[in-house]
Amino acid sequence: MEQITKQAKAKINLGLDVIRRRADGYHEVKMIMQTVEIADTLTFSKSSIPGIRISVGESAGCEQIPTDESNLIYKAAKIMKDTYPEKIDGIDIHLEKKIPVAAGMAGGSTDAAATFLAMNELFELQIGMDELMKMGVRVGADVPYCIIGGTALSEGIGEILTPIEKPPFCYLVIAKPEINVSTKYVYENLKLTEQTIHPDIDSLKEAIQKNDLKKMAETMGNLLETVTVEKYPVIDEIKKMMIQMGGLNALMSGSGPTVFGIFVNQGDAEKAYHAVRGSGKAKQVFLTTLG
Ligand code: ATP
Repeated sequence: MEQITKQAKAKINLGLDVIRRRADGYHEVKMIMQTVEIADTLTFSKSSIPGIRISVGESAGCEQIPTDESNLIYKAAKIMKDTYPEKIDGIDIHLEKKIPVAAGMAGGSTDAAATFLAMNELFELQIGMDELMKMGVRVGADVPYCIIGGTALSEGIGEILTPIEKPPFCYLVIAKPEINVSTKYVYENLKLTEQTIHPDIDSLKEAIQKNDLKKMAETMGNLLETVTVEKYPVIDEIKKMMIQMGGLNALMSGSGPTVFGIFVNQGDAEKAYHAVRGSGKAKQVFLTTLG
C-alpha cells in the first residue's frame, strides 16, 4: 500500500463540566463527547523523500491552518516517525478541511487522530489502540477520544474515556458563527466558585443510556458558555433561534463558538437550518442526524 485516505470526524459535547483547576494549570473535566458526520478528508502518501510534508486545500478556514510543525497532523506524524524511524522515511499528507476551524469541534485533534490511525496502517506498524491513545494524548487531550470516536464519557484532562451507548435518534443543526474563540482565553476566564452551577453530567449520561431524547435535551449543559456566551451574544441568539424553530434544546460545543440544536422533526430542523443561514449569524451551517 502506497496511499491511504481517511475521514476525520468532528465532535460535539452533549455536556461539558469543569470540575477543578489542577495545580499544573490543566483543568479536570467531565464531558459527554459525540462524533458527528462532518469530516475532514486526509490523504497520506508514502514518499522516498525523507520528511513530513503537509498541504491543505482551499475550502473555508483553510487559510488559518498552518502547514508547518505547529499543525497537529505534523505533531502526530512526527511522534510516529520518531518512534519508528526504521519503518517511516517520508510522507506527504493532504488535508481537505470541512470541519469549522477554531470552533469547539476538535478539528485539529481529529486530524491528528486520523494521522495516528492512517500511519499505523500505511506503514504496517501494528500498534494497538491503547498505545495509539497514549501517543495521542501527547498531541492533545482530545486526541485519544478522537481515535476511538462514538459516544463517550471523558474525564481527567479528557484522556480517561468510557464509551457509552449512542444517543437516541434526532436531527441536528450545527452552526458556527463568524468569530474565532481561543480555547485558552475561555479557560483562563472561567470562574469556578462555590456558587458555580454545574451541568449534571451523570443525569445526562443516564438519559442517553435510557434512550430518553427529551431528558437528554433537557439535561444538556456546557459550563464554558458562562465565558463564551457572555463575550459573544450571537451564540445565545442562535441558540434561541433554534429553540424557537422547534428545537428541543440548543447548546454551545466545547469552548465555542459552534452551536448545535436537537430536533425531533426533520421539517423543523430544515426550517431552523435555513433560518440560521438566512439570518447571517452563521455562515457554516450543517444539517445532520445523531443516533
Ligand atoms: P477543540 O474543540 O479541540 O478546542 P477547535 O475546534 O476549537 O478544537 P481547531 O479547529 O482544532 O480548534 O483549531 C484551533 C487552531 O489550531 C487553529 O486556529 C489552527 O491555527 C491550529 N491548527 C493546528 N493544526 C490544525 C489542524 N489540523 N486543523 C485545524 N486547525 C489546526
